[in-house]
Amino acid sequence: MQKLIEGLHRFQSEVFGPHRELFAKLAKGQSPEVMFITCSDSRINPALITQTRPGDLFVLRNAGNIVPAYSQGSQGEAASIEFALVGLKVQHIVVCGHSGCGAMKGLLDPKALEPLPVMKEWLKNAQNTQRIMKENYQHLHGDALVTATAEENVLVQLENLRTHPAVRERLDNRTLTLHGWVYKLETGQVFNYEPVSGQFVPLVAQKPQDAESRTPERLAG
Ligand SMILES: [Zn+2]
Repeated sequence: MQKLIEGLHRFQSEVFGPHRELFAKLAKGQSPEVMFITCSDSRINPALITQTRPGDLFVLRNAGNIVPAYSQGSQGEAASIEFALVGLKVQHIVVCGHSGCGAMKGLLDPKALEPLPVMKEWLKNAQNTQRIMKENYQHLHGDALVTATAEENVLVQLENLRTHPAVRERLDNRTLTLHGWVYKLETGQVFNYEPVSGQFVPLVAQKPQDAESRTPERLAG
């Protein structure tokens, strides 16, 4: 915890001051364009990997970047999605999985979930991912299998996302775009799902210089 306390001091003395204008603006309200749904994994930092500032991303995180399909009893995830779309009017939703995901490993090896009954229950929201892997990926093993699971799971969760009324409505109006990403811990690359080819392909920045000049390193890092 000492690391956190020292970080808070450094943030207040070295970061907040120089960006006072931004934080003053944000104190009045938020209008993020993007909802970012990703795993709780400590190795993923959405603002860092996208080099965005506070106020840019409306973030939802849980084990396995899962979006339970909409139902009458929907709670946390559904409420965040509804608020992002109806309250904040975000224009994009990114579901971002990652290589080496512990939740995906749990899907592949249900025995490992025995000491984690709540996680086991939660991962039922990814049953389709589990089925797809069993049916189509018997030839893969190890890290390649986990990454393929993360990819398939992103697609399954995008389908779940489409069951939410707020998402359906905005897709019908063509005022919302869904994106499926997988972040590779080993290289820092992000792979984007391209529906036309049915493949995840590396996302390449078009104007890296612009992106850099927008976000001071200290703020993002
Ligand atoms: Zn994960």
